[in-house]
Amino acid sequence: MDNRFKDITDRLKDTQNISREDLAYVLEFEGEDNREYLFEAARTVSEKVFHKEVYLRGLIEFTNYCRNNCYYCGIRAGNKNADRYRLTEEEILSCCDIGEKIGFKTFVLQGGEDPHFTDDMIVDLVKKIKEKHPSCAVTLSIGEKPHESYKKYFDAGADRYLLRHETANEEHYSMLHPASMSGAERKKCLFDLKEIGFQVGCGIMVGTPHQTFDHIYEDIVFMQELQPHMIGIGPFIPHKDTPFKDEPEGSVEVTLRLLSVLRLLFPKVLLPATTALGTADSLGREKGILAGANVMMPNLSPVNVREKYLLYDGKICTGEEAAECSMCLKRRVEKIGFRIAEGRGDHPDFV
Ligand code: SAH
Repeated sequence: MDNRFKDITDRLKDTQNISREDLAYVLEFEGEDNREYLFEAARTVSEKVFHKEVYLRGLIEFTNYCRNNCYYCGIRAGNKNADRYRLTEEEILSCCDIGEKIGFKTFVLQGGEDPHFTDDMIVDLVKKIKEKHPSCAVTLSIGEKPHESYKKYFDAGADRYLLRHETANEEHYSMLHPASMSGAERKKCLFDLKEIGFQVGCGIMVGTPHQTFDHIYEDIVFMQELQPHMIGIGPFIPHKDTPFKDEPEGSVEVTLRLLSVLRLLFPKVLLPATTALGTADSLGREKGILAGANVMMPNLSPVNVREKYLLYDGKICTGEEAAECSMCLKRRVEKIGFRIAEGRGDHPDFV
């Protein structure tokens, strides 16, 4: 076994810190035993904190209209081939009813930045979900909003908010987004959300065009400052109707190693094994759990719209009913010796 790799892993575990050089070394080193050493270290920490339980979140993709034009995303405003849809309030509430019946205790409402859904509508929706499902958590993932809007959602009862920062490096940010968007604004939103009291999730895609290990190091420094409750990472996967259609897919291996590094840096953080990871590798989500992740986000959207919420090509689980999807995940989780948690799955500091 390569000693430097092992030393870095041990030091990372003991100090919960990593240098720029060591990060690059761990992410790119080639050698089978070494990666297992890292995965095992991360898994041990995750098992200590979460006791082999995997938290499930039911994902409701309620609109694919978006005012933004992110270069990587399949539902960008400029994609004229996207077949646009919005779920009605009734449809969203019915997803939650089905979700609770099959055991979900968290609903994630995700969508493009769709001006049709005003703050009042979101507030109303959150209140209704919380009234009908008082023991469930509501997570929003609807992009950048003013502080006052976030505050309204929180006061209405929303518990958590997911907003990936995408990259902490401003120059890299500008290579992934049009000039109308800024990394500084995105970071400000995350600090606003945290200050308001949400459990907050940031995150990145692995292997976006022009990304370097230095950028990932900057992402880690940003996360150390923000101290998010959740970190969502998955490989970048090209979508055929975007400017990045010919760019290579992000590496599953680097994603798995980064999951382990994040678990060792942030022992208590909620770390999803994402759908993108499961798309890039058919056993990607299982490998993610075995590398230290502890959350999965099965799709609860109505089957007739799933094909339309295509952020990237080849997205999995677009044909199954919610109940099938959740049974399939349960089997997958049990097969690797883990089990599905029964509670809401809050961050350990929130319970
Ligand atoms: N509008 C919301 C939700 C965005 S979709 C928001 O701004 O937060 C959720 C995440 O999917 C994005 O943050 C992005 O990191 C990821 N994503 C988008 N396109 C992708 C692609 N081509 N490959 C992999 N992940 C992608």
